[in-house]
Amino acid sequence: MRAGFPVPPDAPPTADPLADPTDAADPGLRPDQLELIRSVKGFMPDDEGQALLGVARYAARSGLGPLLEIGTYCGKSALYLGFGAAPFRTPVFSVDHHRGSEENQAGWEHHDASLVDSRSGRMDTLPVARRAVEAAGLEETVVLVVGPSMVVASAWGQPLSLLFIDGGHGREVAWADYRSWTPKVAEGGYLAIHDVFPDPADGGRPPYEIFCAALESGRFQEVPEWSCGSLRVLRRPADPV
Ligand code: SAH
Ligand code: MG
Repeated sequence: MRAGFPVPPDAPPTADPLADPTDAADPGLRPDQLELIRSVKGFMPDDEGQALLGVARYAARSGLGPLLEIGTYCGKSALYLGFGAAPFRTPVFSVDHHRGSEENQAGWEHHDASLVDSRSGRMDTLPVARRAVEAAGLEETVVLVVGPSMVVASAWGQPLSLLFIDGGHGREVAWADYRSWTPKVAEGGYLAIHDVFPDPADGGRPPYEIFCAALESGRFQEVPEWSCGSLRVLRRPADPV
């Protein structure tokens, strides 16, 4: 990625707007933006977040449709997406029921007791995510969609310039997200999947399985320039592979 490459906010989409992903490399976050993102709880290392920001900028600039994330949690990755998309006035929808994944529940590895609603005793990350979007000044860009991913998918018709899958990592949920959301990626648009670990010693299988399924389907090709760590980026070519 070439740092500092300026992309004019009004740049018209070209015939094949996503042909060269390095062409829209992000100019970098301001120090205060990075500091804010670092203060938000979540599961997105800096380098993977920067890669996501680059994809978001390119997708947002393409005119192919909005960006959509599955798995807001406290809003960390949503801020990367939002900072990438805001200059192009392209909305980012971030879907979560805000009740946490299995591993976020009490007694599990990624449980954070401060995110439990004392009234109900259930996880509730919505207030924290909402404050993050507000603090970032991204309320006109990042739209929090509160509900189960499958219910939102059942009513979602708009093609997406970028689909970022980072929701439930259980086999059933991850495959359901893959099956119902990936057909919504616009031709020429991107699919990003988080927590893809080829080696089972590094993490759970389902995100890796759906990444492989996307490649094997022939509908997507990896964009290695933008894959970073466990973040894998694929593109749906404008023409069938
Ligand atoms: N992208 C976030 C991390 C997401 S963690 C970051 O950058 O930090 C995964 C999130 O997926 C959790 O907040 C959980 O509530 C949500 N989730 C899990 N299964 C879901 C489902 N079926 N529908 C909606 N959200 C779901
Ligand atoms: Mg993740």
